[in-house]
Amino acid sequence: MQCKDVQSKFIPFINDELNYKELKGFLEHIRQCKNCHEDYDFYYTMIIGMRYLDSDNSTAEIEMDSEQLLNDAERYLLQYKILKGEKILLLIVICIMLILLL
Ligand SMILES: [Zn+2]
Repeated sequence: MQCKDVQSKFIPFINDELNYKELKGFLEHIRQCKNCHEDYDFYYTMIIGMRYLDSDNSTAEIEMDSEQLLNDAERYLLQYKILKGEKILLLIVICIMLILLL
């Protein structure tokens, strides 16, 4: 993923609208590219700030920071990968059972 691709995904990322592949590329790039990481922080602060101003509730909490969102996304990717691995393992077990039964 190029810098310009990553930068076009800041808002979808914050809105949690990226698919697995996009999310993976996005996170990999942002962890390596200092420029994009800084830009992301800037966007995040801006968007969350705007939402805060938009909301009527002045006590609306903004607990999550930009770094935490990245960490959450990485954890999600990891879980997704494990889940996918389990499915493949299950498939292999079923195949072996079928072979043994036949
Ligand atoms: Zn970059």
